[in-house]
This record gives sequence, structure tokens and C-alpha cells, in this order.
Amino acid sequence: MEHKFAKRVLKIKPSPTLSFNAKVKEMKEAGKDIVMFTAGEPDLKPPKEFEEGLKEGIALGKFNYTAVLGEKKLRELAAKYLMKYELDYKWEEIAITQGGKGGISNLLLALVEKGEEVVIPEIRWASYDDEVILAGGKPRLAEVNEDFKVTPESLRKAITRKTKLFILNSPANPTGAVYSREELTELAKVIVEKGIYVLSDEIYSEIVFEGEQVSIASLEKEVPGIKERTFTLNGASKSLAIPGLRIGYLAGDKEVIKKIDCIQGANASNPNSLTQWGVRKALETDLTGYFEEGLEAYQEKRKLMTEGLEGIQYRGKRAFMFKMPQGGFYLWVNIKNLKGKEFGRSSEEIALGLLEEAGVAAIPGKAFGDDNCLRFSFAVGKEEIKEGVGRLRKAIEG
Ligand code: PLP
Repeated sequence: MEHKFAKRVLKIKPSPTLSFNAKVKEMKEAGKDIVMFTAGEPDLKPPKEFEEGLKEGIALGKFNYTAVLGEKKLRELAAKYLMKYELDYKWEEIAITQGGKGGISNLLLALVEKGEEVVIPEIRWASYDDEVILAGGKPRLAEVNEDFKVTPESLRKAITRKTKLFILNSPANPTGAVYSREELTELAKVIVEKGIYVLSDEIYSEIVFEGEQVSIASLEKEVPGIKERTFTLNGASKSLAIPGLRIGYLAGDKEVIKKIDCIQGANASNPNSLTQWGVRKALETDLTGYFEEGLEAYQEKRKLMTEGLEGIQYRGKRAFMFKMPQGGFYLWVNIKNLKGKEFGRSSEEIALGLLEEAGVAAIPGKAFGDDNCLRFSFAVGKEEIKEGVGRLRKAIEG
């Protein structure tokens, strides 16, 4: 039967990594051993308090519906957690959502009118496009500078009469860019001047290697009016290493959060009640040591990965060129020196080439907006990083 789909779903293009993913699957099924640098999730264990909380939740029978936006206590604890970034939100200004994605899609549904534009960085996490389209909006790209950051000038250029919202992401996936206080202040001035909203996606806030994590909503003194225009997104997927359990925190103006209550009530209802209990128990404890340990582990992996890849040469040139990621757990690598007959020309061909020749998988950059790049995740074991880098060296240097 030929289905009559809604137009909005037809506007979502199939992922440009489809044939790459299919090849990875095929090779794995054939029993090939592949080093996977594709993960978009932490390889750490959650805090022990979370696991204890889950057990306690089971014993207490926390299996019923909760309030749509999450238990009040968890909303309070999420607000308390955000205070570490100098953010001052009350519990009514917090929505507990189905992962970070739930927060993004609900906010877009609440704010974006059909045909309105949402500015996103030209190098970005691919899901932003789809979420904007599903909400009826149009993604509009803002150029990024050599540090992969949107600048006040490029933001200004991307804003039109139809712009409703700007999605800012720091630390950024896939580039590892972390915006400084000064950079955010300048962006905030444009946002307030133009009267648009900003969704500040800070889901990787616990993983900052250089500089500090600054939340744009905390800059109210410097730029009056920025806080009420900002929606801050964070969550437990990366910070507590529970991506499969779907808990996000969205913070912002109470009136909008009330609308999100209606939307989430209609489309998904409360996030998992048992997981809420576990996260609550984790956030009730002092997680400083847990976060520090995690950061240290990522730092070592970042070092291993970057030191390994930077030495690999292809025909007298560096095969992998990159800027050191300042945050997150991805390395955004320019592979234009690898282009040619041997490995192919597009990012997908090169990713496939490296998969076949070296048995190493990294995601083609086209999915994130640059066909000259690949995204390597270093959220994997150190031994795997050493093995993967060794295989790449062998395949490329011969
Ligand atoms: N924002 C960015 C930039 C991400 O990379 C991700 C997940 O990869 C998310 C949001 C969503 O996270 P969640 O798994 O909590 O939906």
C-alpha cells in the first residue's frame, strides 16, 4: 500500500550515514572485529547512588504515573544542580523531560509557529534539524568561525524577520567548542536586541577541559533581559551516564514550562517514574568526586586519541587535522588530506574506506554539516583507542 504521510515527516531526510551504518552492521554480523569510535554516549558507570536509588525505588514500588513534568522533589533538585552554573531557577521553572531530546522537541512545539525559523550552527548535532522540521519550523544555518563557534556577526546575519529561536550548544557536539563568558555575552546582546529566544543546550556541561562552563542565562547582570529569553537544557544522559533511561532537565520561564506541561501531558506523559527516583537519589548526594573522576577519565582518553591521530601521515601530510576539543567527548577531524583514489572523496566514502581497510568506524561529517570531516568519539576504553589508532596508522601509512 502506498501510504499518505503527513508532509512534515516527508521533510525529514534519511540520515546521510545510512549506507555507512548498514556496512558497519553487515561487517559486525559477519563476525568482523571493528573498533567503534561512533558512540554518542558515555562509557562510564552511573554514580552508585543512582543504582541504589533504583533498587530503593523498586522496593518502594515507584511504578505509578508521576506529575507530568516530574516529581516536585526532582524538579527542585534539578534546579539546585543548575545553581553550580550560577543559574537561579525555581522548581516551577523546571521540566523533567524524556531525555534532553524531549526538552528540545517540547520547547520547539511550544514556541515555534509554522514557517518560523530557528537558527542553528552550521556545524551541529544533526537532530536539531529534524526536531525543528517536525515542529513546523525551518532550520536556518549560522556560519561558524575557525573555532567552530557562531559569532555575533554570523548570528546577526542568520536572523530574519521570521526567526523565533537560536539553538546554542556548548560544549558542542560534534566540534568540542566551548564558548567563553565574553563570547556568550556578545551573543546575548544580539539575542536581546533582536528579541528572539535561545535554547542553550548544555547537555555536556560536566565535560569541560579548557575554560569554564558558562550558562548564557547566568549573564543577566551583563545583558539584562537574557534570562527570560533563555531555555537551558541539561540532563542525566551524559552527566550521570544513563542515556538509555531518558531524563532531561529544561529550565526557563514558568509560563512556557506550563505549556510544556500540556504538551508533554499529551504526547509522552511523565518521564520514567523509577528512573526519576534513581536520579533524585543521585542528585541528593554530593557528586563532585564522581564528576571529577569522569572528567579525568575523558581527559586521558582525549590525550590518547589526539596524540595518536596527530602523528599519522598520508603522502607526507597529516592524515587527521583537528583542533583540540575544549569539551564533550568528540574529536572533530578534518580528513581532506585523505581524499583521493585510495580512500574516496566524500566523508562517507572515507569513513567506509577506513572501516574496510582498518576496521575502524568514525561517523561521516556530512551528518553534522561538513563533508571534509569525520567525528571520532573518545568515550571508549583506552585499550580500544590504542588499538583503533594503531590500525589506522597501519592502514594509512602502510
Ligand atoms: N544535545 C546534544 C548536543 C546531544 O549530543 C545529545 C545526545 O547525543 C542530546 C542533546 C540529547 O541527549 P538525550 O540522550 O538526553 O536525549
